[in-house]
Amino acid sequence: MEIKLAENYGFCFGVKRAIEIAEESKNAYTYGPLIHNREEINRLQENFNVTTAHEIDELENTDRVIIRTHGIVKDELKKLNESGKEIINATCPFVTKPQEIVEQMSKEGYKVVIFGDEKHPEVKGVKSYAVNDPVVVMGIEDLEGHHLGVKVAVVSQTTRKVKEFMKIVNHLIENVKEVRVFNTICNATFENQEAADKLSKEADVMIVIGGKNSSNTKQLFSIVERNCKDSYHIEVPEELQPEWFEGKKLCGVTAGASTPDWIIQNVIEKIRKFSV
Ligand code: SF4
Repeated sequence: MEIKLAENYGFCFGVKRAIEIAEESKNAYTYGPLIHNREEINRLQENFNVTTAHEIDELENTDRVIIRTHGIVKDELKKLNESGKEIINATCPFVTKPQEIVEQMSKEGYKVVIFGDEKHPEVKGVKSYAVNDPVVVMGIEDLEGHHLGVKVAVVSQTTRKVKEFMKIVNHLIENVKEVRVFNTICNATFENQEAADKLSKEADVMIVIGGKNSSNTKQLFSIVERNCKDSYHIEVPEELQPEWFEGKKLCGVTAGASTPDWIIQNVIEKIRKFSV
């Protein structure tokens, strides 16, 4: 039996990159959790002595600081850069991009509109790069009462849906003379879904790895189940049953966005044992 991984699965590019950076930066502190995955953060602590600091003051006793995947606010980055510590920036390039756009556009006199959740660390970081007062909105209704002027630049939080972003963009175009639109949405989650859909059309057994409560893993499972009736959602290799693979030719494997690579590898190894 052939075992084939989806073209995109598990951690997104930005998270994989941040983990690699952390693994190469032994004994460092990260400012804020590096990524949204506790198991992986614990692994980095145990194997590489990479510790999470939740407040900037907790960084006083370290000389190596890793900046988390979704970035931090500009003033704090400046403060850390001036502190003499070694600063290792693991901010995802897809997050750095809207930070740069917001800085540039606001300097050019554009009113900045950010589509996203004001409380999310990524949005807080992006917002802090504006030299004027940006507006953060979750929908058209949040634009009410704001004086936007004649020049607006609009960006989005990376994880938002394009359709929702378009509603805001359309509204702005109808109401403002000049609108600069920057599509800063990152397609990582959608890429995993597309790849799972494609693979499950050719596989005769599909294994989806990820937390039973993880909504994006459940979503992946519902996609593959439509195409491949022998689909199974597991969290750990121990759940695999040998009879699932009897007489099968192609086993497809995919994983939710918060499933670490080492769990995926352990699952594949176990499947391989069943198929010999
Ligand atoms: S912006 Fe996209 S690729 Fe970067 S960390 Fe976030 S989800 Fe991952």
